[in-house]
Amino acid sequence: MKNWTVVTGAGGFIGHHLVTALRKKGKRVRGVDLAHPEFAHTDADEFRELDLRKWQNCCETLINAEEVYHLAANMGGIGFIETRKGEIVRDNTQINISMLEAARFLSVPKFLFASSACVYPRYRQIDTEISPLREEEAYPADPEDGYGWEKLYMERLCRHYHEDFGLDVRIVRFHNVYGPLGTYDGGREKSPAAICRKIALAAKQDEIEVWGDGKQTRSYCFIDDCVDGLVRLMESSHQRPLNLGTDRMVSINELVDIVAKIAGKTIRKRYDPSKPQGVRGRNSDNTLLRKILKWEPSTRLEDGLEVTYRWIEEQVKNKHTCAS
Ligand code: NAD
Repeated sequence: MKNWTVVTGAGGFIGHHLVTALRKKGKRVRGVDLAHPEFAHTDADEFRELDLRKWQNCCETLINAEEVYHLAANMGGIGFIETRKGEIVRDNTQINISMLEAARFLSVPKFLFASSACVYPRYRQIDTEISPLREEEAYPADPEDGYGWEKLYMERLCRHYHEDFGLDVRIVRFHNVYGPLGTYDGGREKSPAAICRKIALAAKQDEIEVWGDGKQTRSYCFIDDCVDGLVRLMESSHQRPLNLGTDRMVSINELVDIVAKIAGKTIRKRYDPSKPQGVRGRNSDNTLLRKILKWEPSTRLEDGLEVTYRWIEEQVKNKHTCAS
């Protein structure tokens, strides 16, 4: 009987939170990942450690699945995706094609693919004050090299599987998701987590390193909103790509100032232009999101960062206590 909700990448940041939310909704959840979550126990009814680059493992993952949230990917922040393109594109292509084909082979009723704002073309993101990005503006294509091309290609493949084989697909484009229980060090962390860590480690009056000139802009989506939006999208019948993010654009400098205020510290910025900073500006246009889901993320950046900072501060403190 097809009665499992499957979450791939359930050991990762978004996947772990999604499993918890789906269990609260009464779903029977199977989580799959290379490894269990790093920072908390999974709430999944069943958790399988499988390498999804292998076709047989994808089939095992999808046995009796009524829907799959496919989030597993080899990924990280800008420092990671700019320097590991071969590995990222190889792994994610293998994972995604095998997962999609297994979903067709086993007639899985609904397949949600986690795409990214990295699919948007570089030529639309060359200023800090750019217009928010609408879904159709992904073309003519010129996405983020490596990671973004692979995501855009996979979006396309989802569309072909829908048109040719009738697979019921959902495609979400995340815009910088942040929150507790996310990677905050080791090289895969993204800007909000990295800034929270640096400030948590700083003295009451201190200086931290900022990549680039700090004027690059982004919008950020709190994890609770992200998970809420994912479930709403799965329940909708929208089969084309949909942005999931906020449309409040802030610079990295502003992000640092917000976190410093939360921490109660006076933080100066030391810029390092040699470090990767990605596109110059990026924001989410939520017109379609509001139309399709009758909803949009509502957590204020200051509130989401407060929760995130307190969690990272605690992790950093514990690490240092254990090391000393
Ligand atoms: P994450 O790195 O925390 O989670 C991804 C998980 O996939 C990891 O736990 C990893 O172990 C697992 N994985 C990697 N290779 C695997 C394999 N071969 N077999 C099985 N599992 C494997 O990332 P996340 O932030 O939770 O992102 C989830 C999804 O959303 C990814 O597809 C990512 O590309 C996409 N996304 C995330 C963001 C964001 O801001 N977090 C933005 C855009 C897109």
